[in-house]
Parts: sequence; C-alpha cells; structure tokens
Amino acid sequence: MVRSLEGLPPLVLAAECDQLKERLASVARGAAFLLHGGDCAETFADTTADSIRGKFRTLLQMAVVLTYAASVPVVKVGRMAGQFGKPRSASTEVRDGVELPVYRGDAVNGIEFTPADRTPDPRRLLEAYHYSSATLNQCRALASGGYADLRQVHAWNQDFVAGSPAGQRYEQLADEIDRAIAFMHACGADPEETRAVEFYSSHEALLLDYEQALTRTDPRTRRAYDLSAHLLWIGERTRATGGAHVEFARRIRNPVAVKIGPAASVQDVLALIGALDPDREPGRLTLISRMGAGRVRQALPPLVEAVAASGAVVVWVCDPMHGNTVEAASGHKTRYFNDVLDEVAGFFEVHRALGTHPGGIHIEFTGDDVTECIGGGHYIAESDLRQRYETACDPRLNRSQSLDLAFRVAGMYRHRFSGERDA
Ligand code: PEP
Ligand code: MN
Repeated sequence: MVRSLEGLPPLVLAAECDQLKERLASVARGAAFLLHGGDCAETFADTTADSIRGKFRTLLQMAVVLTYAASVPVVKVGRMAGQFGKPRSASTEVRDGVELPVYRGDAVNGIEFTPADRTPDPRRLLEAYHYSSATLNQCRALASGGYADLRQVHAWNQDFVAGSPAGQRYEQLADEIDRAIAFMHACGADPEETRAVEFYSSHEALLLDYEQALTRTDPRTRRAYDLSAHLLWIGERTRATGGAHVEFARRIRNPVAVKIGPAASVQDVLALIGALDPDREPGRLTLISRMGAGRVRQALPPLVEAVAASGAVVVWVCDPMHGNTVEAASGHKTRYFNDVLDEVAGFFEVHRALGTHPGGIHIEFTGDDVTECIGGGHYIAESDLRQRYETACDPRLNRSQSLDLAFRVAGMYRHRFSGERDA
C-alpha cells in the first residue's frame, strides 16, 4: 500500500507550503489571524459535494466576519482533505458485553461496531489519499472558481437567515460589505483579492506510513516536504520529543503545529521548540493550546512567557474544543458553547496581560445544522443532542454556533489591548 502511495502525485506543492509559512509568519508577528478548523474526523461516506461545500462556506463566512469586524487579514486553513486518522484514549470499546477495537478513523478501520469493520485494513490508506484528493480538488475550485468572490457574500448566507440570530447578524454585515465593494468599484478599484481566497489544507500527522509515503524531496531546495497537506500537526498524545511523530516533523519543511494540553511543562514546550524550530523561523511552528476553560488562565501564561524568552516567534492558537469535552446524561460526548467561549476569552486575557499576540483559533465545526454541542444564540439544549448527532468522533459546532463564535472572537480581537468586551 505504501509503495502505491509513493508512486502517486502529491496533493500539494512545496511552494504552497512555503507560502503558508510566510502567511503564518505574519500571524506570528501580530499582523494576521489564523482560522483553522473542520471536522474532528472526516469520513469517506461524508465526502460529498454538499458536505464539503457546507464546511467551506462556513469557514468563508467566519473568515469574512473576522476580517470585517476585527479588521484583520485571516489565514484560512481547513482540517480538511486528510483528517482521516484519529488518536484514541482506549484501544477497545465494549458494547453489550462485546469488546472490539476502537474506531481509529476511516484511514484505519470502519466505524460500524462489527468485527469486520473494526479490523484495520491497510487498503484504507490508499482510499484516504483518493478521498483527500477529491476533497482538496473541490476546495481549490471553490476557492478560486468564483464561489469565494466577495460579491457572493450574501449568497453564502441564503437558506440560513431565518431562525438564526447569527445568520441575521451576518446579513447586516454582508450589506455593509456590499456597500464597501460598490464604493471601491465606484472609485475605480477592483482588487484581485476580493475575487478568490487562499485556502490551505491540514490534518493531524498521526499515521506515519501515510505521511512518509507522501513526503517528497523538493527539487528547488533539495529539502523534504510532506505533500499530503500544507500544514501538519502533532496531537496531544504523540508530542513526546524523541518520539516518532516529532522526529518525523523535524525532517519536513512544511509549517508544523503541536497541540499543547494542560499537562505540558515549560521544559516540554522548550524541547519542542528545540526540535522543531531550532532556527527560530517565524511561521515554522504553531502551538495550539487546548487547556480547557477552567485551566487556560493558570496553565498558559508560564508557557507563553518561556516561549517568548526562547526567542522563537511562534503562532499561538487556541483550540477551545478538546479541553472542554464532557459526557451528557444521555451518554453523548458534548461541549458547552459557553465553555468554548470562556476558553477563548481566557486565551485573549493571557495574551493581553503578557503583551503577546493571540494568533488564532482551532475549532471543530461542520456546515450542517447538527446538534452536538450545547448552547449558542440559536440554542441547542441537552435534550436536542439526540436529534442530529452525526459526528464520527468529537462533537462539532454547527453552522450557527460557528458564526456566533466568529462574531464573539472578532469582538475580543478588536478589544485585545483594552480588554473591553462586546456582544
Ligand atoms: C483532535 O484534534 O481531534 C484531537 C484528538 O486533539 P488533541 O490531540 O488536542 O487531543
Ligand atoms: Mn477532535
């Protein structure tokens, strides 16, 4: 299987990875904001035009809110086109007395609770490549084929205005953008930047056989790049320095990210910088803090201070999802929207106190109206969870909750120096 993958064309270009690294360097310097998100786990079955377009559109809408309401350039990176492998806390799952291997993502095994599905199958790695390729192809078309043109800012919101406070608020913002564009045109300006967006792909570099097989030497520089995605990240469970995942990431020239949970020590983070960013190259390393709303205000400051003192110019991103997962009485894994907001608020408070840049957010969301997380302006109650609980792994924000979050984050960003809050 690995041999077949080695013979297939790469999904991205090394030059695109370099370009993303430049964009992330401006985030690290405080001149842009990173919006990073998508499904917890993509699935083969859900690789459909509607599902991809829905996620892409939600990402665009969030990015427009942030760009306009916070007046900051937004770097858009999807957890898309490759997020098919999942780290798990337990290796088996028991249902009604039957024990089977856990689901590890469609690139490894199937989600159905049957021995056949749960048995890992290496052919799935090849399938993951093809589904990633189809997804990225559609994203590239959506990004540059007219769909992402800012004159479509209203069209992305059709079907969504009624019944969603965030959709209505978005509609007002879209009116203002329309007027701004009409004004620009009347002045004779028609900037290229309003007609297409730059979109980058990313996933957790968990399955090293897959990543290794798509790693190629760039003829321009003779350096190795993992061309399965523009950005690869290392998860909280596999970030040990000296471990296989960090060793792999050291050897590639893509921009890389690492998840940092509440147990991470200053020594751990400095060792990661030593391994992954020895040259202190802005944009090379992104640190994704996922502390939990209750811990971020205590756990993050010593790490941010130590990183600043090390001379590394990293991107600090807040993942307000993975430290806030709880089990509802119904047994559903869920997250409270208010905890998500509170962790982002804590992240901004920490950076304001230290004078460092709150560089972005990393979230799990979908373009569909699922009911997986509790709360939001268009309130999802605990009793709603069973209605549309569709995730293959962790609970995702739905479209309305995602837009809500974008408005709230835009407010926090605008007031990042004063600490003032707005709705
Ligand atoms: C994830 O991003 O889906 C994930 C498993 O995150 P973490 O490594 O932070 O737990
Ligand atoms: Mn997840």
